Amino acid sequence: MADVGTTGVVFREPLIFERSRPGREGLRLPEAGVPATTDDRAGPDIPAVWRRTAPPRLPEVSEADVVRHFVRLSQWNFCVDSAMYPLGSCTMKYNPKVNEWAARLPGFARLHPRTPEHLAQGALELMWDLERRLCGICGFTRMTLQPSAGAQGELTGMLMVRAYHVDRGNPRKKVLIPDTAHGTNPASCALAGYSTVPVPSGPDGLVDPAAVAKLMDEDVAAIMVTNPNTLGLFETHIAEVAEIVHGKDGLLYGDGANLNALLGIARPGDFGVDVMQLNLHKTFSTPHGGGGPGSGPVGVGAKLEPYLPVPMVERNADGTFRLAADRPKSIGRMRSFYGNFGVLVRAYAYLLGHGPEDVRRIAELAILNANYLLARLRGTFHVAQDRHCMHECVLSDRDLHKETGISTMDVAKGLLDRGFHPPTVYFPLVVKGALMIEPTETESPETLDEFVAALEDIVAQAKTAPDELHHAPHHTRIGRADETRAARTPVLRYRFHE
Ligand SMILES: *Cc1c(COP(=O)(O)O)cnc(C)c1O
Repeated sequence: MADVGTTGVVFREPLIFERSRPGREGLRLPEAGVPATTDDRAGPDIPAVWRRTAPPRLPEVSEADVVRHFVRLSQWNFCVDSAMYPLGSCTMKYNPKVNEWAARLPGFARLHPRTPEHLAQGALELMWDLERRLCGICGFTRMTLQPSAGAQGELTGMLMVRAYHVDRGNPRKKVLIPDTAHGTNPASCALAGYSTVPVPSGPDGLVDPAAVAKLMDEDVAAIMVTNPNTLGLFETHIAEVAEIVHGKDGLLYGDGANLNALLGIARPGDFGVDVMQLNLHKTFSTPHGGGGPGSGPVGVGAKLEPYLPVPMVERNADGTFRLAADRPKSIGRMRSFYGNFGVLVRAYAYLLGHGPEDVRRIAELAILNANYLLARLRGTFHVAQDRHCMHECVLSDRDLHKETGISTMDVAKGLLDRGFHPPTVYFPLVVKGALMIEPTETESPETLDEFVAALEDIVAQAKTAPDELHHAPHHTRIGRADETRAARTPVLRYRFHE
């Protein structure tokens, strides 16, 4: 096994408030050249309740203190720039740095959102062209680039579904959701005012058209399907499911977070999907996680076009571009301005950098890598659905746990000690002790072999030294955390002890 462990200096680092010393400063600003505005003068504009009575208590530190503080903290983090991050369903692929260069070009990065249209033509053209390229990949007629994340895209899509049915005089009440769905799916339906009805998967891990037919009636607004589903399996009955749902004038919502498996190979619009969100930060390579900016464009076929959020970017007869809000049936605006524009620039750079042939290679290599891992690991772990997978494969701790008492959580923590981010664990819920692994196309065969060797090493340790594994990780800055306490009573704010 190559040397990919986790030894090295990891600095302890206090809170920045604890580094503070009275009077220490990192930057001296010149005297202001204009008269100071006192609270009194600001009075008419800022109501008294919102005015500070004392200056904020900020840490007093030097520039070196600040730089070292944040660099040290960043070194505690696991990131896709330091090692493989095979988080199933989240597509943590390596993000080419040229995208960052493009997003930082001053003409894009410093463009004010209120810049008049005639001075923002380049940005509008980028959005117009990106929309068309993404529509081409997905088989849709139009797409809104507004939503800031996959989940907000889902809500946008479901609001369009609602607008469609209201327009036809029957708002409907229910949405069907397979039991393998991502948790955001039922949440988005609830926010859009629908109750959800779970659809049990068949024994093959796929949506069973007969089960859909049984549940489908005139009160079902839509079915929400992730394809490939969260077991990493292509929903082979999707066209039949679409027919059943469309037969009762329902709509097919596709959760497009797993588009990495389809790029250039299959178009959701062609297999019956009426509306779908993309996760640009996953499939189209924007650094994400930790709440960073995302983008969840929503594509539609002709049926839902009238309900798209406004504004949309349109091209004038003379080839210039404008933001148009003339869409009387629109669901309105989903967020301020036009979305997370920097993410759109990255996605555009990524697409231009690849070209149509290479876009297909992304999906082909992602699928190849997942199947390679599945083939190498099926002797070591129980496999939930042991057949050809798409971009991710799902293993389970079933046999290992029975034999050694080692759980999925122990395996995940053991991986951290061996220099890999753990895969998604305990999801999908239909698989006991699931390990959902998505290697992505950006990992080399050598890295995949190292990952397999790490998992084999963990299984060996489970048999010889299970206690050590129960207490892993040992080489990270923070050891085994109490996840319940971290989730239930997080401490997110510094309190001064006077
Ligand atoms: C990530 C993901 C989402 C939600 O996307 P966010 O951008 O995190 O809001 C929805 N569905 C699936 C299947 C996902 O993997």
